[in-house]
Amino acid sequence: MVEGLLDRLERMGRKGGWVALGLALALLPVVLGLGWLSAAAEGWSSFGLGFPGALLGAVVLVLTFFGVRLLTQRHYPSAAEVFPPLEREAFARAVRDRDEPVCACTRCRVVLVAAFSTGSCPVCASSVDYYEVDSAEDADMVVMALP
Ligand SMILES: [Zn+2]
Repeated sequence: MVEGLLDRLERMGRKGGWVALGLALALLPVVLGLGWLSAAAEGWSSFGLGFPGALLGAVVLVLTFFGVRLLTQRHYPSAAEVFPPLEREAFARAVRDRDEPVCACTRCRVVLVAAFSTGSCPVCASSVDYYEVDSAEDADMVVMALP
């Protein structure tokens, strides 16, 4: 259950870090309360309170470390963030009004200068929906191919 939660937080990135720290902060009074109760109680009831308390305490520690790690780790932008999809009009303009040959992916609606291209779309890695545009005919074809 904790691992599923950590997975989800990790996918949230920095925001997940704040959520993790917030959860840890919210659980802390519960842990302290259980610890205090188990110290006050005797015999079996002290074990019954101390055990979940220790377990929750461990969860709080994990959440704290995890949250700090998510907040401090370097964020590596994904290709989709570097090349956000263009609006249809902007995409059509980019392939038609090019100054030099460009490559365009109709699936992701990204356009980049052909000189920087590696032969497949940097976002989806497809070479099927990825066209090199070097003429007005190419440009028309690519705009037509937009899904
Ligand atoms: Zn693509």
